[in-house]
Amino acid sequence: MNSFEYLEKEIQVWKDRGTYRPLTELESEQGSKVSINGREVIQLSSNNYLGLTTHPRLKRAALEAVERYGAGTGSVRTIAGTFSMHEEFEAKLARFKHTEAALVFQSGFTANVGVLSSILSEKDVVISDALNHASIIDGIRLTKASRRIYRHVDLEDLEKALKETQTARTRLVVTDGVFSMDGDVAPLPEIVELCEKYDALVMVDDAHASGVMGRNGRGTVDHFDLNGRVHIQVGTLSKAVGVLGGYVAGPFVLRDYLIHRARPFLFSTSHPPAVTAACSAAIDVLLDEPQLVDRLWENTRFFKEGLARLGFDTGKSETPITPVMVGEDALAMKFSDTLLQEGVYAQGIVFPTVPKGQARVRTIVTAGHSKEDLEQALTAFERAGKKLGII
Ligand SMILES: *Cc1c(COP(=O)(O)O)cnc(C)c1O
Repeated sequence: MNSFEYLEKEIQVWKDRGTYRPLTELESEQGSKVSINGREVIQLSSNNYLGLTTHPRLKRAALEAVERYGAGTGSVRTIAGTFSMHEEFEAKLARFKHTEAALVFQSGFTANVGVLSSILSEKDVVISDALNHASIIDGIRLTKASRRIYRHVDLEDLEKALKETQTARTRLVVTDGVFSMDGDVAPLPEIVELCEKYDALVMVDDAHASGVMGRNGRGTVDHFDLNGRVHIQVGTLSKAVGVLGGYVAGPFVLRDYLIHRARPFLFSTSHPPAVTAACSAAIDVLLDEPQLVDRLWENTRFFKEGLARLGFDTGKSETPITPVMVGEDALAMKFSDTLLQEGVYAQGIVFPTVPKGQARVRTIVTAGHSKEDLEQALTAFERAGKKLGII
């Protein structure tokens, strides 16, 4: 008897379609070059935008924290797992983000789920961009509020939703700051204006903008000079910040409420000392080494121009996330495999992560890539693209 036969059947379908993917093992640290299958290749798939995963200041902070406070915390924040370093880091993060307060969650995913599932009731409406991140979608699935999905970055459709929901107690409009699969940026000034006109709250998920956009990587709110006009900012400590975690930055009252009601915060153990100390060091690096953000953007421009010159369709990205559009799922995976043979790791992204027919290889350059790395990567894209008839 095999009770998992139904799962095996489904997996076989993916295998037949060419979309079944074993996990890719890195045999080295996460750098601009990594070792895969015993070979050194150029990494174009990580979210390590600024190279902070291996920054000496973060590593030292983590090691010192382990020596001093141990490997784990032994409790959730609300019982016995709040160390002084957790509170100090949140205060520092709030200062950095120009908000009254900040609260750290285990991940960006749980931060979104925690906020969206806790602060709304059946009297409220949540209004969400169609291409928001899965963690926003799952958070919305857990709320009792009514839902409205507006077409991706479509302000008319958003206004329609705001007009039609005026009897609700609270409307919360939620959007990614930078969209993770396309690299486009939300029209935040216009969204904020609409929300002010219709008296709605705004929540921005800056996972791909933290450390990337705004002064010293403060995010899209700072980038658009909207400090004080966005009610809730969610971000991650797992991407450009280089470590692990998510945060909510906003007013004191929101932090207080989440501490008492956000279930991932209440029911999951707090970050180990090494994580918190490394995150704290990362904020210092963002403040002290703004040249990392500058280098990231220089590399972004160089690589985007190179791909466009080769004739690739790179969608509508305005950020270091550059999708190379392919279309069919199996072709995207084949493109990714061919790139790996050519010395570049760039993962294929297919349904359900992106809509059917819009499969792509998604690239992310980092501040750590040299010009030679990127030139070498462009040569690999040219060879693989020609081989498969993509260009
Ligand atoms: C990656 C991502 C998250 C999740 O962040 P983690 O810290 O990795 O859990 C949330 N929202 C968006 C838009 C993301 O891209």
